[in-house]
Amino acid sequence: MKIVMLGAPGAGKGTQAKKIAAEYNIPHISTGDIFRANIKNGTELGKRAKAYMDEGKLVPDSLTLELIMDRFAEPDCASGYVLDGFPRTIAQAEALAKSLADKGDKLDFAIDVDVPDEKIVTRMSGRRACAACGGTFHIKYNPTKVEGICDLCGGELMIRDDDKPETVQKRLSVYHEQTQPLIDFYNNAGILMTVDGTQDVDVVFNSIMQILK
Ligand code: ADP
Ligand code: AMP
Repeated sequence: MKIVMLGAPGAGKGTQAKKIAAEYNIPHISTGDIFRANIKNGTELGKRAKAYMDEGKLVPDSLTLELIMDRFAEPDCASGYVLDGFPRTIAQAEALAKSLADKGDKLDFAIDVDVPDEKIVTRMSGRRACAACGGTFHIKYNPTKVEGICDLCGGELMIRDDDKPETVQKRLSVYHEQTQPLIDFYNNAGILMTVDGTQDVDVVFNSIMQILK
């Protein structure tokens, strides 16, 4: 199963991707998580990506494609994956389609988690992320048992640098300009499915399961 998650930043792609990955026993691949891990580890890639991320801009396609193609080469990708935050531009989507086609393969579904902009700002301002395991929570919609502590691994929760309100606005406009066109791209490819992302996490997940089954 090869799935792409679409949707605005903060729509709930990561939340749903983790659940899909667990259900199908396939890797959840988040380019944002990979960039953040590189920043944390002080790698050259992390240093190059950070400047773009802090401004709410996209990391250049060349850097992102190099990173993701290396990830696809790892053995756990053999039975599929859920992509979260990639592709984010038409050029990335075309590169992905070509690399799959070269192997006689293709994507199964692109799932658009649809949430209007006005709800996105509340989602992102309340998001808390675990730096240790990548767990994602929300102070109101998905609170942890102990405030500030990850339910999954006991790590400390943090606010992402790019979840500040001014950066969120920039990320939303970048989304509308560069990523939203992917909805038409995958609709034309005949694999687009849309779910109402404003519903509760479990309701959204059930809608996705109905599509995938
Ligand atoms: P994305 O990966 O699309 O950027 P996340 O999965 O990180 O989004 O979700 C953004 C924030 O919204 C997180 O704090 C998450 O806990 C919360 N969230 C995700 N899905 C829902 C939902 N269906 N209802 C309410 N809050 C949600
Ligand atoms: P995310 O965790 O998916 O919200 O991504 C956080 C940030 O990482 C984005 O705002 C971009 O700066 C960068 N990023 C993640 N994925 C991509 C991608 N596919 N293409 C370009 N930049 C990306």
